[in-house]
Amino acid sequence: MMDSALMLDVDAIRAQFPILGRELHDGKPLVYLDNAATTQTPEPVLEAWNDYFRRYNANIHRGLHTLADEATAAFEQARDTVREFLNAARVEEIIFTRGTTEAINLVANTWGRANLREGDEVMISAMEHHSNIVPWQMLATSLGITVKVIPVDQRGVLDMQAYQALFTERTRLVAVTHVSNALGTINPIREMADIAHDHGALILVDGAQAVAHARVDVTEMDVDFYAFSGHKIYGPTGIGALYGRYELLDAMPPWQGGGEMISRVSFDDGTTFAAPPHKFEAGTPAIAEAVALDRAIRWLTSLHFDLVSDWEQRLLTHATERMQSIDGLSIIGQAPEKCGVISFVVEGAHSQDIGLLIDQFGVAIRTGHHCAQPLLRSFGLDATCRASFGVYNTLEEVDAFVDALERVLAMVR
Ligand code: PLP
Repeated sequence: MMDSALMLDVDAIRAQFPILGRELHDGKPLVYLDNAATTQTPEPVLEAWNDYFRRYNANIHRGLHTLADEATAAFEQARDTVREFLNAARVEEIIFTRGTTEAINLVANTWGRANLREGDEVMISAMEHHSNIVPWQMLATSLGITVKVIPVDQRGVLDMQAYQALFTERTRLVAVTHVSNALGTINPIREMADIAHDHGALILVDGAQAVAHARVDVTEMDVDFYAFSGHKIYGPTGIGALYGRYELLDAMPPWQGGGEMISRVSFDDGTTFAAPPHKFEAGTPAIAEAVALDRAIRWLTSLHFDLVSDWEQRLLTHATERMQSIDGLSIIGQAPEKCGVISFVVEGAHSQDIGLLIDQFGVAIRTGHHCAQPLLRSFGLDATCRASFGVYNTLEEVDAFVDALERVLAMVR
């Protein structure tokens, strides 16, 4: 059988990313391995952005003129592109936000405040990004709810028995990441959703690290909320989306008040609100960003997800194999189901030194706690180095990274 990964034309993909042609520090080709933090932007997305400002920049929804019509149509088309991308049933189930963080805060502050009472429980996992921890802790402080934590084992896998055992009749919501940004672990979302629903709880999934790497289907996974960010999927910063089941969104109160989210405003009779999704989109939204996100999604999906996933798995396997032979290097997180991310520490070498020195070889990786301090602490660490892959990375880049790493380690140890 033909190796399907060979069918992805990575050279052609790279050619669409002007930034990947950069050279750093006296002619060293950029090796960009910080894709979990943000991905780079291909030409079609840059063009969509440019075209918006050159041809039809206007405020949306309220205008009667041609430019306003065109901008509104493009913005609402972007919503439908996100709907199709996530396989949501209705376009009204897609709310544009600034990103994953805002999407989770939206759910905490609307659904959470309307539905949670003192003593209720929200379950998160030990591998959450701070953006899926802190909003729930803030609710715990203001509403008196309890935040329970599903433990993670030393491979970086969620303890599913503990997960089941943590439910009580007060568990209202499970808020869990689809893929860990610090370890790369892929969580069994469908199974977790079934268990949550069996206990009468809802499930919110942080998809920030999943959407660029594998096909996401909110209907098939049977999740209630799903959040992601545009800048981690080859789109711009400042835009992301929240999927929410329509009946939930319809019953939720608005969060921010202002233009766009109302049905009628009166000094005498008060204000009535628009239906979802507009109820949750107060003020002028990120229009150009939505248009560019639309293009990014269409660009990525045109590559075929199984090819993308296969290719990124090859990069991960190759990096893992090469790194395992480095003396004193430990890979943090060795889940059997893993994607896109390789976190590591090296005996006798400070993570920050590695990150700074490897930059001198043109290699961009991330060091630190990756906004997952509790997780790192559970491994007895306060920082790791993290290399994370995108569809445009090559096996040669993985080699350049590992070669540079070996040279850095020779310098610091
Ligand atoms: N969740 C995960 C798993 C992430 O990796 C990130 C960003 O790194 C976020 C949430 C927050 O995303 P944003 O900063 O785009 O809101």
